[in-house]
Order: sequence, then structure tokens, then C-alpha cells
Amino acid sequence: MPLVRSTEVLQYAHEARFAVGAFNADNMEILQAIIEAAEEERAPVILQVSGPTILYAGLTLPAAMVRTIAEEVDIPVVLHLDHGISFAQNVHALRTGFTSLMFDGSRLPYEENINITTQVVQMAHSAGIPVEAELGKVLQTGVTAREVANAMTEPDEAADFVQRTGCDSLAVAVGSIHAMTDRQAELDIDRVHSISEQVAIPLVLHGSSGVKHESVLEAITYGVCKVNVSTYLKQAFVGALRDAMQAEPAEVDFRKLFTPAREAVKERVREKLRLFGASGRISGTGAFRSPPVQRRSGAGGASNGINDAVD
Ligand SMILES: [Zn+2]
Repeated sequence: MPLVRSTEVLQYAHEARFAVGAFNADNMEILQAIIEAAEEERAPVILQVSGPTILYAGLTLPAAMVRTIAEEVDIPVVLHLDHGISFAQNVHALRTGFTSLMFDGSRLPYEENINITTQVVQMAHSAGIPVEAELGKVLQTGVTAREVANAMTEPDEAADFVQRTGCDSLAVAVGSIHAMTDRQAELDIDRVHSISEQVAIPLVLHGSSGVKHESVLEAITYGVCKVNVSTYLKQAFVGALRDAMQAEPAEVDFRKLFTPAREAVKERVREKLRLFGASGRISGTGAFRSPPVQRRSGAGGASNGINDAVD
């Protein structure tokens, strides 16, 4: 089906208390793996294009691949700009057909982040396209625990930021770190809870590859509706590729080497979609199944609505 906007997908996830998986469409094989997994799991999915991928492949080619593959399946697919760096880049993405944008001004002074985010939101909303913003900094590996703590999102500031910018979803810094290769991090769940009490829009978790599963599930309970996964897929792809090359050192048909790498990524996407409670949310006709009764039981409550999709 044609690409859909992130608005409807995230709103549905927000009401049904699960998270949509957002995976980076870094190359054709990974893109195919993500889509096949999401279609088999009957899960909505967000395919995103990040800065390093834009440097590697440009903006228009990944976008065209995502658009093409989305039209071949009957699940909702969103094309999202990940960590947009400027107003101009967001305009470019909008004109290229992205159905969800992001401006990451987290490294800017607070008021400057508000100013540019507001401009991007106004521009995007004039075309009916939603915008994710970031407040607090989700850092890269190599930082200290103190640096991570100091970069976390302040709940009061988040409320002011969302109200003033009009952004549609908010990436929060709550203890995760980009590009972690071990699953060791625990999120500051009290902080997620505090933010969700002051901010009504869907929250986004970046850097999930290094976060313990229980912690991700608790964050979903408190309003995280989009979970970004990148490193975990890259590890699978490169690991399987390396094994294939070692097993067949004389093989020059890279398609034969890429095939097991693609399969390995697909399995990890399926695992994440199930973990996030996204599996089974889309009916055979491509529509959202009716969300379960909204519950705000919180962590430790009787149910968080995960993995209990109902018609
Ligand atoms: Zn990120």
C-alpha cells in the first residue's frame, strides 16, 4: 500500500500501548529483511533513513526503495527521516516523499532547538507531515555514566518544549546510548514516567540495541511508542556475512553471501516486533486491529497491553 504518515501509526500504538519498530533502511537487503519480517508478523513498521546512510547512498535512492517495497505489501509502512540535521534537509526529505520527519536539535542551546524545531514543524504541518523532535541528548558509545545522566531529558523542560514547538513525537534521553553492542543499559523508568505524565504525545526511544529487554518493556508501558533499532541489525548482518565468507572464501557471487545475512536480520526484526508488542496488530486487509482497552496500569501493573492484540 502507499506509504502512510507516522501520525496514525504512533497514535494507534499510543492507544494500544505497544511500540512500533523503527528500523534503519541502510541497504536493499536489510530493507527487504525488515519488510518481510513485518509483513509476516502483521506489524506496522517505520523505515528510517539516517545521516550515515544519506552520506553512503544519498536521500533519494533509499527513499525510492522504501516507497517501492511499501507498495508491494499490505501493512502500513512509514518513511521517516532519522536525526535530520537542518531545516533544509527536512525540506529536501519532504519533497522526496518522506511521510515523517525529524529535526534533532538536541546539541543546540535550548532556545535554538525550540526555534528551529518550530520552523520545521510549521513547514511540515503545512504539508500534513508529522515531526519528531529530540530533547536531552542520546549520546554515542564511549561516554561515561555521568555524561549520560547529565544529558537526560528534564520532564518540566519536555512539557515546555512540546507545547512551544508543536512537535508530534519526542525522542527522549532516558539512559540509552547509540551504537551499543552489548545489551546492558537500564533506562531511568521514573524519568520516562514523569515525562509521560507531562507530555501527551508519543515518546521515542533511540539507542535501544544496548537496553535490557525488561527496561524497554517498562518504557513502552509508560508511553514509548516508537523504538529505534539499528546496531542490533547491523551486528546480525555483518556477523552472518563474515561467517558466509569464511565458509566459502572463494565465492565471488556476493548475492549468495548476502542471502544468509538478510535472513539473520529478518529473524532479529521479528524478535523485536514481538518484544515491542507490534506483532498481530494489522489485519489481513491491512487495517489496524481495534486497539485493546486503554490501560495505564504502569510498570508492575496487571497488564501493559503488550502482546495481547485483539480484534
Ligand atoms: Zn538515534
